[in-house]
Amino acid sequence: MPLSSPIIIAIDGPSASGKGTIARKLAAHFGFAYLDTGLLYRAVGLAVLRAGGDPSDPEQAIKAAAALDAERLLTLSHDSALRSDEASVAASKVAPVPEVRASLLNFQKNFCAQPPDGAPGAVLDGRDIGTVIAPDAPVKIYVTASAEVRAERRFKELQERGENVTYAAVLKDMQERDARDASRSLAPAKPATDAVILDTSNLTADEAFAEAVKIANAVLVTKTD
Ligand code: C5P
Repeated sequence: MPLSSPIIIAIDGPSASGKGTIARKLAAHFGFAYLDTGLLYRAVGLAVLRAGGDPSDPEQAIKAAAALDAERLLTLSHDSALRSDEASVAASKVAPVPEVRASLLNFQKNFCAQPPDGAPGAVLDGRDIGTVIAPDAPVKIYVTASAEVRAERRFKELQERGENVTYAAVLKDMQERDARDASRSLAPAKPATDAVILDTSNLTADEAFAEAVKIANAVLVTKTD
């Protein structure tokens, strides 16, 4: 059946829940485009840090977000510094600013309306995909895991990258970031009412992906029948 508009799969959840891996694999599985929206906020946070500024200062965050056009965002998304813990903390500080979110909204909406390379659909992962960016997405999955499990995963990842961190510090950062993300008034990180919750605390990456495919297929197979 020909479909008139792209199929959107919205993947939300806290950091290190496994949502990025699941989203990337789902995109490959269905032949859809993929956008890690956290990178957009990281790019803004990192731009402020690189200018020697303070990401907690809304004025500086707004200026940095306004300077990032679509082309620059795509180039920046390959910058490995975006994966650092410093960038993720800075991201969660600029993310509550309404003007920052507004600056990044169009880029994300356009990605959904016209996925790159003519892909028939797109998978986006973030915090507000199912609630704000693509509220009509037919597939919404909220991927989560306990803070301790997520901190352990993040700690291992940072260690492998050679960053000098302790588990306690990673857990503390994670809890503070979760609190900032969940308590902000605009687009707080929470599951959409129609999202399926996928808890990956006791699942391997392969098991979590298999579950996500099952959830997506349950909707997409019915929709395209
Ligand atoms: O997903 P990731 O950990 O890369 O996101 C970094 C930060 O960016 C999050 O802690 C959150 O504050 C912000 N973010 C957001 N909305 C999104 C994606 C990320 O507010 N859709």
